[in-house]
Amino acid sequence: MRIAVAKEIDEGETRVALVPDAVAKLVAAGHQVSIEPDAGADADFADQTYVDVGATVDGDALAGADLVASVRPLNSGAIRALAEGMATISFLPPAQSLDLVAELRDRSVSAFALELVPRISRAQSMDALSSQALVSGYRAAIVASGLLRRFFPLSMTAAGTVQPAEVVVLGAGVAGLQAIATCRRLGSVVKAYDVRAAAAEEIQSMGAKAIELDLDTLEGAGGYAREMTEDRAQRQRDLLAPHIAAADVLITTAAVPGRQAPLLVTADMVEQMKPGSVVVDLAAETGGNVEGSKPGSIVSIGDAQVWGGANVAGQMPGPASRLLAQNIVNLIALMTGEDAALAPDFDDEIVVGACVTHGGEVRHGPTRELLE
Ligand code: NAD
Repeated sequence: MRIAVAKEIDEGETRVALVPDAVAKLVAAGHQVSIEPDAGADADFADQTYVDVGATVDGDALAGADLVASVRPLNSGAIRALAEGMATISFLPPAQSLDLVAELRDRSVSAFALELVPRISRAQSMDALSSQALVSGYRAAIVASGLLRRFFPLSMTAAGTVQPAEVVVLGAGVAGLQAIATCRRLGSVVKAYDVRAAAAEEIQSMGAKAIELDLDTLEGAGGYAREMTEDRAQRQRDLLAPHIAAADVLITTAAVPGRQAPLLVTADMVEQMKPGSVVVDLAAETGGNVEGSKPGSIVSIGDAQVWGGANVAGQMPGPASRLLAQNIVNLIALMTGEDAALAPDFDDEIVVGACVTHGGEVRHGPTRELLE
């Protein structure tokens, strides 16, 4: 099939959906790949590196494509330029993109959303949420160590002993575990808390101490966290407050699928932290785990600096794009039939799960309800 790689248009989006190594795999599988000019430039992949692996550079790449790959959804103008019946793969938070979903439906585009790929074992190689969370978790730890005007590791010198930094991580999913692992590698002492029952063992396996609170675990469907009642949220905050007050660094990564991020830490709790402390809130864009955090900014609360994440994976665009591109190559392979033609199998739960629009209909139930 003819695959086009879009140049991202959203401000601040530095990633690219397919990197040259991924394009080489697609070309070897019999596909023709075109990229829009400068598609990979912000992730440090020059047009020539795509040409070197067999792609063409074409300002009209999208118009002639059977499938367009992008990181963010295409905008309205780009959707109107697509041939009817072709396919798109991108992140497409459908509930926040209802107008675009309606346009994709009306244009009979088969739109597949990366965040809707079911998180089952068979789909792990296509799980872009995990691959990007891995990058942002690593980045969170590096940002925290950069902002903290102290050592992370223990240091014993002739001039005395430097104590290691104490880090608390809240939320120990993919991003949180990666933040823990990175902080440990940098030599800090790490404690972490998550509401899922399995989390304590995962935290310990990364070399951190699991904070145990006298609270029920909160597990919902598929092993993910459930939303807290306000009463439980308050008790969790009260029990976590002394751990946070004793920390040099707080990294928060907590999320509940389909919901605003839970408020785990109030401004009062940050004010109890030591002078010079650092807070990194990876959930700042989805409501924030820390009261007062601002996506893309550093704000002062009490004597702490609070860094709010904004497209954190995009702050490491090269590796983030490489991982994302491999997820997309695997999804394309799943949907490729004979003669390298696009042939999504709508009996496959991965295809069905990821599909937002197809054949002039909205196939994703919750989005269809929002549009009705
Ligand atoms: P996520 O981004 O939705 O949430 C991040 C973490 O925040 C989760 O661990 C969650 O339990 C935690 N959290 C939510 N509310 C909290 C609260 N009030 N206090 C503290 N922590 C809170 O989750 P994720 O990182 O995408 O994945 C979570 C789980 O799913 C992990 O166990 C992961 O291993 C698993 N997973 C499985 C697959 C698969 O099987 N294919 C893929 C990805 C993730």
